[in-house]
Amino acid sequence: MIERDDNKERLELALEAAGLDLWENDLVTGEVPCKATKVFAELGYNTNESAAFVDDIFLIIHPDDLLHVQQAVANHLSGKSDQYRSEFRLRSKSGEWIWYANYGRIMDRDSQHPGKRFIGVTFNIHDRKRREDMLESMNRQLAEQNALLENMNTLLQTLATTDSLTGVANRRKLVEEGNNEFLRAQRFGQPLSLLFLDIDNFKLVNDSWGHPVGDQVICTIARTCSQAVRANLDTVARIGGEEFAILLPQTAFDSAMELAQRLCSVVAGLQINTGIPDLIKCTVSIGIASLAPGSSSFEQLMMEADKALYQAKESGRNCISCSCQGPA
Ligand code: GH3
Ligand code: MG
Ligand code: MG
Repeated sequence: MIERDDNKERLELALEAAGLDLWENDLVTGEVPCKATKVFAELGYNTNESAAFVDDIFLIIHPDDLLHVQQAVANHLSGKSDQYRSEFRLRSKSGEWIWYANYGRIMDRDSQHPGKRFIGVTFNIHDRKRREDMLESMNRQLAEQNALLENMNTLLQTLATTDSLTGVANRRKLVEEGNNEFLRAQRFGQPLSLLFLDIDNFKLVNDSWGHPVGDQVICTIARTCSQAVRANLDTVARIGGEEFAILLPQTAFDSAMELAQRLCSVVAGLQINTGIPDLIKCTVSIGIASLAPGSSSFEQLMMEADKALYQAKESGRNCISCSCQGPA
């Protein structure tokens, strides 16, 4: 008898130190020989209220957790799980939802009364759940901020390499792509060509119809160039007020010349509608430079294309010139 009391005292001490509330259900009679009353006291219920809830704890389980708890009990009763474990929220007397966990097991499954005693403990896990929620929300926020940062970086990258008026590449992008393509072409012995294209007598457009109309003409020429080249391979860049460059990887001089001729004639055939009564016509001059055995850098190729463009202007405009062969 004394030994039993000692054991009981030891058990009570251990349970109290661990913050555990012991309960026991008789699965045959439905009685509750040991009630987890501390939990209900903790939730602010008086003795009478506790008694009702102890017998039917499901009355104060959060509706979102109810099914999960019932499933966990059913799984253990049917032998699907070795232990009964569940986490759920209980409604305190003041209406707050407090997180608890249950851990239990059916005893004596193999004895004379299999599965008669269902014993377990309930313990408060509210602080842990709050920390988990906080961590989850911080992780979510972090993920959102990372996605935002990534979008901003992409946007910045685009802004840094795009001409704001026309949407084509800017000079920085041309030089970057040009240097890469120059090295690639040299390494693999592939051709590479570059066109410099300038709108003829553009000052007249501005002087006659104003700057905003001039802007629209510049945009039309940018669009015309973009539509004439191979998407995802060639690069059209605006490198000055009314001056463009077109980088043509894997393109030898003859093909570059064909494109230049096509562009000259397409542009000359345009009747640009900018919303004013007049339809505007314009022409372009083009300089071509192609990679040659003596080519030392993309910068040199740019200088040659610029020189060829100058020659085209000197030759009367609306024409094409190349660094190697003189006016075409
Ligand atoms: P050329 O045939 O020799 O190229 O003659 P041009 O009149 O086209 O060349 P010029 O260099 O004399 O004049 C270019 C004009 O382009 C002058 C400048 O005001 C105008 N311009 C430069 N940038 C822009 C721009 O962004 N928008 C508009 N509308 N005009 C611009
Ligand atoms: Mg011009
Ligand atoms: Mg110019």
